[in-house]
Amino acid sequence: MIMSNTKSYAAQSAVAPLAPFAFDRREPGPHDVQIDILYCGVCHSDIHQVRNEWGNSIYPMVPGHEIVGRVVKTGAHVKNFKVGDLAGIGCFVDSCRTCPNCLAGEEQFCDEGMTGTYNALERDGKTPTYGGYSTQIVVDEQYTLHVSDKLPLSGVAPLLCAGITTYSPLRHLGVTKGHKVGVLGLGGLGHMGVKFAAAFGAEVTMLSHSRSKEADAKKLGAHHFALTSDPEVLKSLRNKFDFVLNTVSAPHEYSTYLDLLNTNGTMIVVGAPETPSAVPAFNLIMKRRSIMGSLIGGIKETQEMLDYCAEHNIVSEVEVIPVQKINEAYERMLKGDVRYRFVIDIASLK
Ligand code: NAP
Ligand code: ZN
Ligand code: ZN
Repeated sequence: MIMSNTKSYAAQSAVAPLAPFAFDRREPGPHDVQIDILYCGVCHSDIHQVRNEWGNSIYPMVPGHEIVGRVVKTGAHVKNFKVGDLAGIGCFVDSCRTCPNCLAGEEQFCDEGMTGTYNALERDGKTPTYGGYSTQIVVDEQYTLHVSDKLPLSGVAPLLCAGITTYSPLRHLGVTKGHKVGVLGLGGLGHMGVKFAAAFGAEVTMLSHSRSKEADAKKLGAHHFALTSDPEVLKSLRNKFDFVLNTVSAPHEYSTYLDLLNTNGTMIVVGAPETPSAVPAFNLIMKRRSIMGSLIGGIKETQEMLDYCAEHNIVSEVEVIPVQKINEAYERMLKGDVRYRFVIDIASLK
């Protein structure tokens, strides 16, 4: 009998809970590294896709794109990794490599579409990709990140998505001392947004609909906390911010938070709810406000972010769970009950 080489947890449909699933990873090719996965973070995008909320799901689906592990095998032409190295994989594992975006190191915007770490097809157009809720992964070294051994690895895993998704737009916009930044939603992305905005010198206000998160927000580095479910609080914050980093996963009205931006202020949309929000013209034109979207970050910037975190001792606040608790973790995330990232200990799969 031939045994599959990889154990995982997968969704077989949009309504099925995640359950054990075995499949085969390819043998590493000349440019590939094979990684024994140690930790994988749980992103709200995993829930959106497992439940087909974005309408593009492929099953069976093995989620997970916040992967940290150790290299156990390298292809003949691999130059930058050796057996025993720590390695990270984020949200994509390939791209066309030739379009202007790929050449500029912004592979996430590849004109032909990046190859997602899961819920996607390899460049051959037929082989499904499977993510990090699994014991091992094989990826081209060009799409593999170096991970420092200075930081706790469970806290590093979420940097591969929650970290880069918040780091990238704040850097792109040059957020620094003197800026007032509101971070909307204190979950996986939000807590990293607070840490980075504070590290870059901005005055940070946590905008949360959960009163119970106030003390934590301050510990994470927020200078102020505002309860967004209180209309008086929202009124008092009108025209206050240069930037609002919107990480909310559930459908909500952008206009409510656009009003908090000062002249020339920008709302950075990273949260990806399944239904659109109407944007009234007046909320934009009255103060020349903008809305900008941002998608994770390229390989080069992800490495820069990981190095920055190693240097500044920045990691995600995590609750480590065995994979057997994944369905429960999803339910808790949907209730906003995560402090502030679930991370799967992949030893529980082995
Ligand atoms: P998460 O950990 O579940 O956090 C989402 C937070 O949103 C919650 O903790 C909650 O914060 C707030 N929230 C939830 N329901 C709400 C509601 N009904 N009204 C107001 N606020 C609500 O999720 P995540 O992993 O950080 O992901 C957040 C979103 O970003 C998801 O949609 C995800 O798909 C998306 N995402 C985008 C990218 C990208 O590249 N653009 C990358 C990764 C993830 P409070 O309790 O503080 O209000
Ligand atoms: Zn993610
Ligand atoms: Zn490309």
